Amino acid sequence: MPRCIFHLDLDVFFVAVERVLDPSLVGKPVIVSPGTGRSVVAAASYEARRFGVRSAMPFAQAQRLCPQALVCPGNFSAYQKYSRDFFKILEHYSPDLEPVSLDEGYLDFTQCAALFGPPLSAAAVIQQRVKDELGLDVSIGIAANKLVAKIASDMSKPAGILRILPGRDAAFMAPMPIGRLLGVGPKTETDMKQLGIKTIGTLARLSRADMESVFGSQGASWQNWARGIDPSPVLPRERAKSIGREETFLIDRIDRKELRGVLQELASDVAYRLRGQGFKTRTVCLKVRYADFSLHTHSRTLAEPTHWDRDIFTASQELLEKALERRLSIRLLGISAHNLADERVQLDLLDSGQHERLDRLHTAADRLRKRYGYESVAWAGLIRKK
Ligand SMILES: [Mg+2]
Repeated sequence: MPRCIFHLDLDVFFVAVERVLDPSLVGKPVIVSPGTGRSVVAAASYEARRFGVRSAMPFAQAQRLCPQALVCPGNFSAYQKYSRDFFKILEHYSPDLEPVSLDEGYLDFTQCAALFGPPLSAAAVIQQRVKDELGLDVSIGIAANKLVAKIASDMSKPAGILRILPGRDAAFMAPMPIGRLLGVGPKTETDMKQLGIKTIGTLARLSRADMESVFGSQGASWQNWARGIDPSPVLPRERAKSIGREETFLIDRIDRKELRGVLQELASDVAYRLRGQGFKTRTVCLKVRYADFSLHTHSRTLAEPTHWDRDIFTASQELLEKALERRLSIRLLGISAHNLADERVQLDLLDSGQHERLDRLHTAADRLRKRYGYESVAWAGLIRKK
């Protein structure tokens, strides 16, 4: 039976909350930004976007483009309250609910049609409730997997519902530019275009091996996605067993080198604790809170479960590149490992020679750490030994 996944995304969330609190803002160009010094635009209403204002743009530039815009400094505690109320409504419709950020989440509706009726009518009821109870518009995409549901909700904006029937995923995505795929940033998009890959449909027709040879394991994932294949589950936060660590900075940071350094430490720590508790992880998640308070998580599912520093660091580094595309400074960075498996599982699938070498290395490192403290072994040391 195909799955039925909803992606629900509140429209211009920060602006919409400001308008509930102050209805005189309705219909006018609105920018949410601290509006001081070198601050950036946290959100802009559709009316302001018409003048070219975009999220993450320097505030000064936004003001030049649309001087008549009304500026709200931002009210993070109100946004959090509305977010909590939004997810409380969604919880009613399925226990399998995965919040992605304050205003966006996935809901697995597969088992719930018996209680709430067919997906389209249930979505219409949810949309109406969010409007009546919170005064906010939500766009809903429905599909057989998370990837297509997210693209569908994006296309249904504002305040729409779009359902892609099972089996129509690939056809739905085929005419879209490849930049639509998660992880395909402007640079990769240019690289692909040079190879003649302009649309998702072209990508779908290429062989997995070719994509893998040019773009590595991520290339293989893109090729899968282009065919509408995305088996990643909707992971309810509280029930998901995970191991993670995060760090909040005293000063917001944007320097790539510095952030990578922090990431290296976090990755080592998470890997150390995975090994300590006898787990391997299949999914690495990067959590980023930007200077404008918005919270984003990016995740990457690995080909093989791992508990090695290097694997977790590599995956999170790729996710950091994605996060830096917003060009906002960052105030919190976190790595968590999800989809945990007992470490003895699937050993046979790995190249046993490589596995043994890495295992010996890490066992030795862990012994040193136990004896001389965590700081006694650094990640750079591991690279040199390799
Ligand atoms: Mg949104």
